[in-house]
Amino acid sequence: MARIHLLSPRLANQIAAGEVVERPSSVVKELLENSLDAGATHIEIDIENGGARAIRIRDNGRGIEKDDLALALSRHATSKIDSIDDLEAVSSLGFRGEALASIASVARVTLTANTEEQKEGWKVECEGQDMQTRLEPAPHPTGCTVEVRDLFFNTPARRKFMRTEKTEFKHLEEVVKRLALSRFDVAFVLRHNQRVIHNLRAATTIQERERRAMMVCGSAFMENAVHLEMERAGLTVSGWVGLPAFSRSQADLQYFFVNGRVVKDKLVTHAVRQAYRDVLYHGRHPAYILFLEVDPALVDVNVHPTKHEVRFRDGRTVHDFLFSTLHRALAEVRPQDQLEQQANVREIEAGSDSQLESQIHQQAPMNLQAATQSFSNYSAYAPNTPAAGQVQEQLSSYQQLPPSVDSLDAQANWASGNDEVQEIPPLGFAVAQLHGIYILAENAQGLVVVDMHAAHERTTYEQLKQAFDLQGVVAQPLLVPVSIAVSEREAACAEEYQEMFAQLGFVVERAGPESLLVRQVPSLLRNADCDQLVRDVLSDMLAQGSSDRIRAHINGILGSMACHGSVRANRKLTIPEMNGLLREMEATERSGQCNHGRPTWTQMSMTELDKLFLRGR
Ligand code: ADP
Ligand code: MG
Repeated sequence: MARIHLLSPRLANQIAAGEVVERPSSVVKELLENSLDAGATHIEIDIENGGARAIRIRDNGRGIEKDDLALALSRHATSKIDSIDDLEAVSSLGFRGEALASIASVARVTLTANTEEQKEGWKVECEGQDMQTRLEPAPHPTGCTVEVRDLFFNTPARRKFMRTEKTEFKHLEEVVKRLALSRFDVAFVLRHNQRVIHNLRAATTIQERERRAMMVCGSAFMENAVHLEMERAGLTVSGWVGLPAFSRSQADLQYFFVNGRVVKDKLVTHAVRQAYRDVLYHGRHPAYILFLEVDPALVDVNVHPTKHEVRFRDGRTVHDFLFSTLHRALAEVRPQDQLEQQANVREIEAGSDSQLESQIHQQAPMNLQAATQSFSNYSAYAPNTPAAGQVQEQLSSYQQLPPSVDSLDAQANWASGNDEVQEIPPLGFAVAQLHGIYILAENAQGLVVVDMHAAHERTTYEQLKQAFDLQGVVAQPLLVPVSIAVSEREAACAEEYQEMFAQLGFVVERAGPESLLVRQVPSLLRNADCDQLVRDVLSDMLAQGSSDRIRAHINGILGSMACHGSVRANRKLTIPEMNGLLREMEATERSGQCNHGRPTWTQMSMTELDKLFLRGR
């Protein structure tokens, strides 16, 4: 049998490296976090060959003293915590003192640094099985440069796992993007094979921040996002959420930060998804950049070594806060907000000066601010919201569109060049119907195209939901109560939540240790499979403490009623009817997408039309 012996420092570090250093992007993450921990405000990242050949990160932080340089490369050496008490209140991104040692065990690392107090800079390299260090003077301004060459040169097995240069760079760029969004106050430059990929100046004003977010996530996202900011009971959430119609096939544009740290957390993801539930196309993913600020004492960010998960002391409250804030923000978006945001983005683009920025955004910059300013007041066009009433009865009235005659006058005024025109409504004036499917309208920017059925279905659905909420649940006793066999735990749960069931129109009673009786259901669900529904609700309650299934079910039914009650394709609409629909869309929550999450309208500006015809302006 082999005798026990101590591992060489290099091997011990390589084993530790298994956790920290997976690929070039993990090296970049660790080094950037070190730079931020050192208080850097300007960080340059140079990458060669996807990071496999070289990663060089240069910062203007505090730097490292000559005598500490060698120590920085050894394991469990950190300047960030001293005692277990510090761990409780740790605010730095790193603190394990493992990253540099791990990286140095699988790559050729040079650390060059200088501090405010020192006269000259010093450089350290480490080599050999025992990771001895060699120190020599090297000029360097205050700050630190870490160079990592030939990653995994001595661990061929890991080297084999590296993907193409392009893929590795993508991962690494993602890391830079995340940190760039978490620290607007720090300037980042990212180069790949000497080409500048991102040049992000420090951003302080809201405009500058919006600009950085746009450069990181693209102008299409920003054009289709709403800014939000909300504070309640010590929680603050701010950022941008993508409109539902701007959904993605992948969850690749989702940035969530808790107290400035990137977080991928189940609770958070669930709250966000739920906020989009009623408006997102099936199987699509929302896009967002969100910052949550919580009292640090109420959140544990050190649950996991890669620190993407968090543990909230009061998860329920955080979940509800996120859900309700986003839900509201998405509901409140109106066509005019969307048009304003697009104009806003174009203005930011127009203000961009560097070459790089125009490379990223091919769209020609233009200024539509002036054009949208006149939209500040459109309330004159808002149709009456339906008051409470029987949902069913109400439905029949929707088959007809309330014509808007005011619009006709306003349009005539506008056409005649009358200066005393009232404001032009955001979605403009209807001019024609196309193939019985689309409404064409003219607004200040140019052409608006509306999917007639989709738009009407949505406004009807929103009105039905509103009527349903106002009127309260109409329930109906069952002639023959339905008996359901459940587990004892479920039966107890049903008892406990009897009140909640009652609010939703259900009367669920315990009939025995393992059986329940459903005596009453909401009228709307009289034909639904209530047995299954109650079971599902109970399993939700047991697993996550809440359930929105009944409401989802009711919404589903209102949705299909709305579909049947809306104008069908090929129905000829009069111009006033079309205008009526446009005005209704402007006044209705979530009218920007149909019940399935597809957009209900789109805008083509005059500039875009001109481009089609190569017409200069
Ligand atoms: P940790 O970040 O967990 O402390 P690291 O191995 O990443 O461990 O870094 C070790 C130490 O080296 C840090 O605690 C810090 O004192 C120093 N250090 C690393 N990078 C920098 C940097 N860019 N600027 C200043 N000090 C640094
Ligand atoms: Mg570190």
